[in-house]
Amino acid sequence: MRLSDKVCVITGGGSGIGLATVQRFMAEGALVAALDLDLDGATASGAQLPLRCDVTDENSVAAALDAVLERFSRLDVLVANAGVAHEVRLDQTTLADWNRVIQVNLTGAFLSAKHAVRRMPGGGSLVFHASMSGVVATTDEPAYCASKAGVIGLARAIAVDHAKDGIRSNAVCPGVVETAMTVEQFRPHPEFRRQVEQAHPLGRFASPAEIASLTAFLASDESSFLTGAVVLADGGYTAR
Ligand code: NAD
Repeated sequence: MRLSDKVCVITGGGSGIGLATVQRFMAEGALVAALDLDLDGATASGAQLPLRCDVTDENSVAAALDAVLERFSRLDVLVANAGVAHEVRLDQTTLADWNRVIQVNLTGAFLSAKHAVRRMPGGGSLVFHASMSGVVATTDEPAYCASKAGVIGLARAIAVDHAKDGIRSNAVCPGVVETAMTVEQFRPHPEFRRQVEQAHPLGRFASPAEIASLTAFLASDESSFLTGAVVLADGGYTAR
């Protein structure tokens, strides 16, 4: 019960890694608010407080976090997880695509963090779900890689600026994780899927629960001396 009675907000909590994080946090004793564009998904997650929220919309983020304070009177942890994939080569990436990926993945993380930090007067822990694609280039997804490199920079900047406020800020960088996002991407390309699995020295993709377990550690007081860390959970992909 590493998160006993901690009030935790998880964006994108209605699916995939966010959903596994909601479930793991609840098993660790947390009080969880799941924020998602998809209210049905957030509700089905089982979180005590499911809320519809668009992380690209500042008013929506502020209103959701106010609702969390109203319900639980406190905020201890933010997991900035909401994100979208975009697998398109540079010369085919439209400005609209670029803006959407940056808005959801990077601006969404910024807005969630900004409004969470304001509501954490006694300190707290921020965990950003970045990606190994923010550390090394993965093929034909330049907007996604750029957005996740930005999230890593944001996580580190907050760690430096807000340590004095008792706020820790860390980034988790998963390799490929078996979720709706990736199953759809790889379904038409089974041979490519095998190649990418083999590019992870562990020879497989991660389960969402394996990422949630690391995030629970970073959210909890067990990681009390970690801030500004960029933690790779990539099955060894970037170790080659
Ligand atoms: P997913 O598609 O299963 O879930 C993403 C969730 O975010 C969905 O519930 C969706 O409704 C929500 N969402 C999207 N846009 C939103 C918005 N504007 N406001 C609020 N909610 C929004 O994806 P996933 O695979 O679970 O990925 C979760 C995070 O982990 C993402 O940031 C992703 O980039 C990152 N990640 C995923 C992988 C992977 O292989 N799946 C690898 C590394 C990093």
